[in-house]
Amino acid sequence: VDPATRLYPPEYEGHLGSLLISHEEIDSRVQELAQCIHEDYKGTRPVMLCTLKGACPFYQHLLDALQDLKQGYTMEFLRASSYVGAATSGNVTLLGSELNKEDLENRHVILVEDIVDTGTTLANLLPLLQKFELKSLEVCTMLEKRLGDDKTPAAKAKYAGFSIPNKFVLGFGLDYNELYRDLKDIWVISQAGIDFDAKSLV
Ligand code: 5GP
Ligand code: MG
Ligand code: MG
Repeated sequence: VDPATRLYPPEYEGHLGSLLISHEEIDSRVQELAQCIHEDYKGTRPVMLCTLKGACPFYQHLLDALQDLKQGYTMEFLRASSYVGAATSGNVTLLGSELNKEDLENRHVILVEDIVDTGTTLANLLPLLQKFELKSLEVCTMLEKRLGDDKTPAAKAKYAGFSIPNKFVLGFGLDYNELYRDLKDIWVISQAGIDFDAKSLV
């Protein structure tokens, strides 16, 4: 795909280092993931649990593909915090969670994530969710980062859209200082993008 054909807000000019995954590639991979989920959950109504905010665009596309397959589901959302700047802290808390035990107890839950990097966030989040006495819990992530051969992730997703190199990526929900979530495609940030003062935009 030619990066010059991509659509993005003009204020991002010069910030996008290289195109990693196009919107079209995301779309077709989402169909495949939905098919896998449908095969595994046919006859049940999984709770599709979206982690805010990063997973939102992926979640929306995934639910749309499940609808096309006539796969029923219910919707829940959570907000977890662990990431400060570009380094994970491993200290995960549920922020202002709307989760109620009666909505989750004895249900099949699919946690929908934007990206699994070291897996630390997941490894900390999954036990918090298990406390709701779920029937089952699996993870569907849009991206997983390839770790070095010597490293294994702290937790792995059953369903993963793309395995990507160990670079900081943006777009399709993924942010840097709350910018770039509004990109249709997934990009690697440039140095100018890292240096950019997000507060200069209103
Ligand atoms: P982990 O705990 O698996 O190392 O990190 C997971 C979280 O870190 C993700 O939910 C996401 O918020 C953030 N993260 C990890 N890698 C990237 C990246 O390349 N780009 C962005 N925007 N966020 C990332
Ligand atoms: Mg996440
Ligand atoms: Mg973030």
